Amino acid sequence: MTELTQRLRSTAYLLIIITTSSYLLYQCGVFDREFVISPRNATFQNIDDTTQGGNTQSWIDYDGKSLSLSCQIADVAKWPFCEVAINLSSGVKGIDLSQYHSIGLDIDYNSPLSDERIRVYLRNFDPAYSSKGDPVSSKFNAIEFAPGVGNGIQVIPMQAFQVLSWWIADYEVPIEYSGPQFNNVTIIEIATGSNVKPTTYSLKLKKLVFYGEWFSESMLLRFNIFLWLLSAIGFLVWERWKLHCGLKEIEKKTVQLVNANKNLHQENLFFEELAYKDALTGTNNRNAVDRWLQEVLEHARMNHQPFSIIYLDIDHFKLINDTFGHHKGDEILREFAQLLNNRIRRTDVLVRWGGEEFIIFCSGTDRAGVTEFSEELRQIIENNDWNDGLAITCSIGVAQLSGHENFDSLLQRADNALYKAKKLGRNQVATA
Ligand code: GH3
Ligand code: MG
Ligand code: MG
Repeated sequence: MTELTQRLRSTAYLLIIITTSSYLLYQCGVFDREFVISPRNATFQNIDDTTQGGNTQSWIDYDGKSLSLSCQIADVAKWPFCEVAINLSSGVKGIDLSQYHSIGLDIDYNSPLSDERIRVYLRNFDPAYSSKGDPVSSKFNAIEFAPGVGNGIQVIPMQAFQVLSWWIADYEVPIEYSGPQFNNVTIIEIATGSNVKPTTYSLKLKKLVFYGEWFSESMLLRFNIFLWLLSAIGFLVWERWKLHCGLKEIEKKTVQLVNANKNLHQENLFFEELAYKDALTGTNNRNAVDRWLQEVLEHARMNHQPFSIIYLDIDHFKLINDTFGHHKGDEILREFAQLLNNRIRRTDVLVRWGGEEFIIFCSGTDRAGVTEFSEELRQIIENNDWNDGLAITCSIGVAQLSGHENFDSLLQRADNALYKAKKLGRNQVATA
């Protein structure tokens, strides 16, 4: 498995684990939250119709566990009522209950009549329609139901709340504000129902709670989609980056290879030169001549062109070595080759034949020409200032290629001529 597939697989596993566990946690209610209204976070008071000219009597009592409201409804006011008003704040800044999806109410409602209903109001203050000095201007989000007695907690969705139509009409609330709204609830009111009769009512509020979630299901879904998308994008970016780095590495390696190749080529050239050049004097060696000699001779024969060789040998070189040392001998060899190189033509080829012997191959030059040229070379060597008062001379044998003679024969004749020059007293040119 490639590194890429492995990473892809690990990322997918991780995402599956996160998604599954987040949904399991959601189902187990880990993200649920509750907001319980109690005397610890709110103040409770009883209100009745006496403020509106009625004669209803009401009492409130809190025994540390539940709150009781008792009412003696009197049929005096136009709309007799009594209620528990639960103040969530002292001013206009209430509590945002819009994050909760349900309200839970555990109420026992007693009266001589059966199936009596109560009204629950969540009063929302919004400067768009509410004013500070007018408590009625806070929106009436209302439900009405019969809690009965001993029925335990009843959970009612917040969606069940409706805004009272008389309030919308009285305050000429624009349509966009006429729906239920819970973002700033300042008071919760639990009141007797719309059709109260002049009798006694007792309301026992055992629990008032709001249910919500820290994360809703849609938020969880969005979170998971976002996570998958982010991972996919991250993965693509990472993959591209890796590719880019890989390419850079390949480019770097290519440059290194090209450079190595160049070096190798240069080294090859160097070794090739070593193979064909004499290391001491820098002139060609015998290997170099072998390559083209046959061709040159063939060319000379075919075109009836003269071809001559000049065979040079330094006189008494052994004595120079013995007297001044090998190092000095090497210097003289280098200078000797240099002097010859400076004088020969472009078409001439100088070769160190071995030791203190050199041969110059002269294409297009006959015996007379080469003899004259050799004499000139002999004088150059003799007349050179060799330092330390040294007198260096050389003997020269020349020969011209004749007919179909081979190179060995030509060389032998030149060598013979050289021998003759030596015999005759050295420092002279002899012709074969
Ligand atoms: P002749 O006049 O008869 O040519 O005498 P010679 O001493 O020049 O000839 P011989 O062949 O007796 O000696 C040649 C000497 O050249 C012997 C050898 O040590 C020396 N020699 C050959 N190659 C080199 C070299 O590369 N460097 C040095 N320093 N000496 C060399
Ligand atoms: Mg010699
Ligand atoms: Mg010699």
